[in-house]
Amino acid sequence: MMDFDTIAAVATPLGEGGIAIIRVSGPQAVEAVDKIYKGRNRLSTVDTHTIQYGHLVDNEGDVLEEVMVSVMRAPRTFTKEDVVEINCHGGIVSVKRVLDLVLEQGTRMAEPGEFTKRAFLNGRIDLSQAEAVIDLIRAKTDKAMKVALHQVQGKLSLLIEDLRRQLIQLMAHIEVTIDYPEHDVDDVTRNLLSEKSRWVQEEIEKLLRTAKQGKILREGLSTVIVGRPNVGKSSLLNSLLQEVKAIVTDVPGTTRDIIEEYVNVRGIPLRLVDTAGIRDTEDIVERIGVEKSREMLSKADLVLLVLNHGEELTEEDRNLLQVVQPMNAIIIVNKVDLPQRIDLDNVQKMVGNMPVVMMSIAREEGIERLEEAIASKFFSGSIQSEDLTYVSNARHIQLLREASQVIGEAIEAVEGGLPVDMVAFDIRRTWELLGEVIGDTVSDDLISQIFAQFCLGK
Ligand code: GDP
Ligand code: ZN
Repeated sequence: MMDFDTIAAVATPLGEGGIAIIRVSGPQAVEAVDKIYKGRNRLSTVDTHTIQYGHLVDNEGDVLEEVMVSVMRAPRTFTKEDVVEINCHGGIVSVKRVLDLVLEQGTRMAEPGEFTKRAFLNGRIDLSQAEAVIDLIRAKTDKAMKVALHQVQGKLSLLIEDLRRQLIQLMAHIEVTIDYPEHDVDDVTRNLLSEKSRWVQEEIEKLLRTAKQGKILREGLSTVIVGRPNVGKSSLLNSLLQEVKAIVTDVPGTTRDIIEEYVNVRGIPLRLVDTAGIRDTEDIVERIGVEKSREMLSKADLVLLVLNHGEELTEEDRNLLQVVQPMNAIIIVNKVDLPQRIDLDNVQKMVGNMPVVMMSIAREEGIERLEEAIASKFFSGSIQSEDLTYVSNARHIQLLREASQVIGEAIEAVEGGLPVDMVAFDIRRTWELLGEVIGDTVSDDLISQIFAQFCLGK
């Protein structure tokens, strides 16, 4: 275990909450709080993992706050250090007073993410788990939360560790072959190398296949609604925002405060994108031309193109149908309550493989079908097994891609008949890359960068 000073921060969101928690961690945690605590027992004498009722007193001995204090001694704590948590009243002023008082007792204000960082540096969690804590804090839907939770529990780490164990074994085999270069050993090693490396690569590819869905759960689908004027884009937007409840996330961080609006469609967060200042985008083809609008729309993960059931297809409808052709688009035929004027056969011909959803947004009909179409487009309609391990973190995805490529080179070399010691390097490199996912082989700089994304008190 490393030697650290004692840090403190408010662990609950700032505001008018009923109760706030001030978390103190480090070798002086108990002693520091004890100096300002008055209760039946001194904190230094109480059993670990107990909660005490008492008061905080300032330097003049005046009672400041009525508190409950949890004392948790190392190593069975989140940071593996002594941790004291002060539960006090939630008002901003009282929380600030208590924190100031704690800081006067020789503790230091924690940096964002520093508690989690300590848990990592003290070996309580690995890096992918620490990163998952960030995801948990930012999770926008239940499903995203579950994915992050699985990662915190170390599902991804276990998988990666298993792969690394296999690679270590391979390295050992290669060593033996190099040291005892008899012919039969070489053949055995060669077969083993090819077989195991293929297996490792397939496992990595499996993980990468979850990446797209993982990213969607983590970041949401950027969604644009397009259509010519008056087809019902604003109505659709409003209905989505009401029906499925807008989720507003507010993540206070030191680097930036993100306030974004999401709607939750069957566990998938949709981020309704503001294109050029307007949420629903009309006459964009006319305004900026086919090419430009194609470029703009192609940045979205999902395009909802709205047509009017009660009117014939116009030139602009046709243009839009053509523009969205190569994109992830869903065609909505709105206003089915109006007599049909649109030539549906013609529409069907133009949409190709894109799903078509019939709706009457004004009558609140078809929203279910739209949700279904979105869910099956991105999750192939299959019910998500909750314990599937998703990779969603951009850093992990990058590392896994590289690892897959490097081990691919090893496979090629070994199956192409190159001497086995030539592949040793690739196997070792794959092992290192996988190690970076769980933080086994990463630089201090990267670690600081990752933890800087946290909000205070975590
Ligand atoms: P936008 O210009 O594409 O944003 O279209 P709006 O959402 O502003 O809607 C244009 C008009 O169509 C409004 O008067 C809506 O009330 C109406 N409208 C929207 N959806 C429907 C529908 O399903 N049926 C009918 N009959 N009218 C609708
Ligand atoms: Zn509109």
